[in-house]
Amino acid sequence: MDKIHKLEELIIKHKVDYYSGKPTISDIKYDAIEEELKGLCPDSPALKLVGSSPSNESKVPHKKKMLSLDKVYNSHELIEWIGDKSSIGTYKIDGVSCSLIYQFGKLVLAKTRGDGRQGEDITDKVLWMDSIPRELPLAQDGEIEVRGELFSTKDNFSSLAAEMENIGLARPSSRRNIVAGLISRKDHVQLARFICFTAFDLIAPNLELSSEEEKFLKLEHLNFDIPPLFINPTASSLEGIIEDTREFMSEGDYQIDGLVFSYNDLTLHSSLGETAHHPRYKIAYKFKGETAVTQIKKIEWGVSRNGVLTPVGIVTPVELSGAVISRVTLHNFGLLKQYNLKVGDTIEIIRSGEVIPKFLSVVKPTVGELDLIKQCPGCSGAVEIDDIRLRCINSNCTARELETILNFVQKIGIDDLSGKRLQEMLKQGLIKTIVDLYHLSIADLLKLEKFKDKLAKKVHCNIQQSMSVDLITFLSALGLKGGGRHQCGKVVASGIDTIEKIFQLTIPQLAQVESFAEKSATDFIHSLNERRELISQLQAVGFSFMTGVVEASGPLSGKNLCITGKLSQKRSVVEDQIRSMGGRVVTSVTSKTDYLLTNELESTSSKFKKAKQYGTPILTEEELFSL
Ligand SMILES: [Zn+2]
Repeated sequence: MDKIHKLEELIIKHKVDYYSGKPTISDIKYDAIEEELKGLCPDSPALKLVGSSPSNESKVPHKKKMLSLDKVYNSHELIEWIGDKSSIGTYKIDGVSCSLIYQFGKLVLAKTRGDGRQGEDITDKVLWMDSIPRELPLAQDGEIEVRGELFSTKDNFSSLAAEMENIGLARPSSRRNIVAGLISRKDHVQLARFICFTAFDLIAPNLELSSEEEKFLKLEHLNFDIPPLFINPTASSLEGIIEDTREFMSEGDYQIDGLVFSYNDLTLHSSLGETAHHPRYKIAYKFKGETAVTQIKKIEWGVSRNGVLTPVGIVTPVELSGAVISRVTLHNFGLLKQYNLKVGDTIEIIRSGEVIPKFLSVVKPTVGELDLIKQCPGCSGAVEIDDIRLRCINSNCTARELETILNFVQKIGIDDLSGKRLQEMLKQGLIKTIVDLYHLSIADLLKLEKFKDKLAKKVHCNIQQSMSVDLITFLSALGLKGGGRHQCGKVVASGIDTIEKIFQLTIPQLAQVESFAEKSATDFIHSLNERRELISQLQAVGFSFMTGVVEASGPLSGKNLCITGKLSQKRSVVEDQIRSMGGRVVTSVTSKTDYLLTNELESTSSKFKKAKQYGTPILTEEELFSL
């Protein structure tokens, strides 16, 4: 399988080179690669790949209409809709809906939703997608249809953007439209391999399924990825599910715009039926961009590590999607200027998933001029206009220093030291810079408000312990420009794995490291140089670096786990437990996956098969919790 994959990638590369007029190997060598692949996998789509998509733009009808969903926007309506029925919820993935037709277990047709009656034939594109099986594992009688969503994950999107740039296409700017864009392309169809598919419906009259839950498990057995399931939620658990979903919307690996709920009992589906637009047994809970009108009472300015001042509107409290709102993001100085925002303005605000709502429009302005701050709220120093931003230009600004120290404390992982406590330390003159934290005595800490013996000892101990840390965590805690955890990880992985080597690092050398280019390497080295003294001081107080990565500590530290099949409790609960034990939850099994968590002894799911292929150890739920 791996060999086939490698050959396919090789063929794509050479075809792309060829069609862009820059072939790098001879025709004979190329033909040999094709012959080898033909021998191993005569059906490979790479063999059918030509300069442009082979399929014509044909419309194909859906046998069963692909309806849209009825929507609710608040939990009360949702609870009322569920009533006393057993139901099942999943994420509503924000992508492109797609229908796959399998005949006797073989994929014969893939089409988009289109207008619901007919869609575009996209079979040639889906053949490139790893998450769409070309053949089903179990012998299937007659025809089955699998419906689901095509979407892009964060990781896939960045690989895709890099590849598009490489082959001379414009770099895509948003994940939102990229899937629709890719599946309508006529050339470079191989780019479709960066699209993922998650199944949400199965139409198979021959299979005797009785519940929606069974349908999902069946889909998983047929090797499809399925979204997380929330089985039989109650009015009280729903609030938690909705909150988690909101969080996933801002932090998750792919884009969602709400939840979908169905009645679990499939006999209800046939008895309730459908209207012309939507089924009566399925509903979408959408995070509508709910808006409200309120008044600005005050504009507060926050100061970031790099000195950018960000405005936050303090508004008359107003209720918005179930929460009382008193703070509104006003983005930046440019927005203030554009709308001439000032205290007293009546404004419309919007909240769609994110925690803090945003400014939308001015409803009624007050008379007056835009009131701009002339001094930094942290240090009272001068501020400077830099395009759409306001900046504090004082490099010794206490507000900036606080953010720098706070960033370090959070990234290096010192518990019980909040921003408020650090601020108090700065105010009392106990600390001025990061290094000062390591000179603090228990007696110093006792000078802080509410600090008793026990807490002071604990914080002192936390600070001292933070000095043995792995190099990646240390580097990413320094707040280097372009030095996030991902980039620092690449630096260390490239063999620059001691602080001595870091100090000798040059721009050309760093530009060779994955994830870096000339500009980002220059920024990184420049800000590293600015922190040389700090790093030496930290070494002098006793910092020692372990190489390698240490994630949150626990029995699963640094381990990747993938989950498949039915669990005794909600998947999100189990996922949280894995994370609290130091592990990471991944969505598919690769050679880097450490465990497959499943309660099944044998399964035909793709995750299970891949685990067998890679020899990934299987862990049951019981074994997990006994760790
Ligand atoms: Zn300042």
